[in-house]
Amino acid sequence: MGLDENDLNILNVLQTNGRLSYRQISERIRISVPTVSSKIGNLERIGIISGYHARLDPERMGEFSAMVTVKARPSELPVVIRHFKSDDQVRQVFLLTGGRLLLICTYVDVRALNEFASKLALIPEILDYDVANVIGVAKELHRAVVASGASPTAKCANCGIEIRGGALRLKKGSLVHHLCSEGCLAAFRGRLGKL
Ligand SMILES: [Zn+2]
Repeated sequence: MGLDENDLNILNVLQTNGRLSYRQISERIRISVPTVSSKIGNLERIGIISGYHARLDPERMGEFSAMVTVKARPSELPVVIRHFKSDDQVRQVFLLTGGRLLLICTYVDVRALNEFASKLALIPEILDYDVANVIGVAKELHRAVVASGASPTAKCANCGIEIRGGALRLKKGSLVHHLCSEGCLAAFRGRLGKL
């Protein structure tokens, strides 16, 4: 279900400024407002656009960040990750190769960071960890690169599994639904018919 040039243009424009109206987007990339609206609806539904939010500057807010790497046995990573899920100061958790996690954490004061580091030492599944304070930010972009050649995944509208590549499409009004198989297509069509 590749992204066409208009999808890429919409993503480019929105990644720079998520507050633009459909009309402003349509003027910038020269496609009609209904096309912008239906394309954005589809990009949201398949999860490529996962949200809209204000981008806050932690340094301006007087906060500081630390990059934390944590090493654990791969089989114990889920247990370790559970410790960070509900911790609001752990902003991002990346699973890396070699049984490592990279955590990006932001704190309002040094004491909170020290407390976090001492908590790491008490988690038995953690074999090793390293904390490095961020002393400057030279570049920070959103992780998604808008470029042709990306092969988006979509969730099957019927069973919910991730589909990569050849999804079946069902068009209903201005909406396009993606389905993983003929079976799911038939079942979803039935569900739509009952609505
Ligand atoms: Zn399915």
